Amino acid sequence: MRIPLIAGNWKMHTTVGEAVKLVTEMHRGLEEIDGVEKTLCPPFVSLAVVKELIKGTSIKLGAQNCYYEEKGAFTGEISPLMLAELCEYVIIGHSERRQYFHETGEIVNKKVKAALKAGLTPILCVGERLAERESGETEDVVKEQTEAALAGVETLGSLAIAYEPVWAIGTGRAATGAQANETIGFIRNIVDIKCGNAVSQNIRILYGGSVTPANAAEFMAQSEIDGALVGGASIKADQFLSIVRQTADIRRAR
Ligand code: PEP
Repeated sequence: MRIPLIAGNWKMHTTVGEAVKLVTEMHRGLEEIDGVEKTLCPPFVSLAVVKELIKGTSIKLGAQNCYYEEKGAFTGEISPLMLAELCEYVIIGHSERRQYFHETGEIVNKKVKAALKAGLTPILCVGERLAERESGETEDVVKEQTEAALAGVETLGSLAIAYEPVWAIGTGRAATGAQANETIGFIRNIVDIKCGNAVSQNIRILYGGSVTPANAAEFMAQSEIDGALVGGASIKADQFLSIVRQTADIRRAR
């Protein structure tokens, strides 16, 4: 049984003070919910303070990005080694990084390898754009992105994949549960071919894209979906709590 993972990607939202307030609003409620791994991914500058606030709880911490070098003259970058002292997870290859910061499959691959080497758990994001879905290229795109990101990676460890159709991110236009389930099943099959059945049955593959309390249950009820990467709804304490709670309830009922 794969333990569901709900990760909140706060994106470039919250000052340090706002991050403290947000965590304070939800950490007790999150701690009361069992059977779901709960992960917060605030901006880099708030990682240390959030780490202190969640100390001793089951809530985990993640970063939203990392560079692929360990150290050096790379002004403004943050290395996986630095993150490893602060958090457990790191989101890699988010479509906003691919789109606005020109991250290629090769860069994403280097970041995945560097994160794993540093002992971090990558949450690798893949997903097609609207035009690609409309022209029937969804499977080609996620296959290409997944294979590029995992090229030469021997051991996936606890790496998770987030299937995030670009057209669903931040748009309020989520995929349907059936659409997400189908593509996630396809991604699991890619992992199966690359890494074998034991790995593909263990790996957690999340859905991301306009997940809210109103549609979370539809996704979490699907057999292939092992959780969610939540953007907008993760910076509203009541909404994030509701998504985590619904996930726990659905899994308990299985
Ligand atoms: C995301 O940022 O990964 C995301 C899925 O955002 P949203 O939930 O706002 O669509």
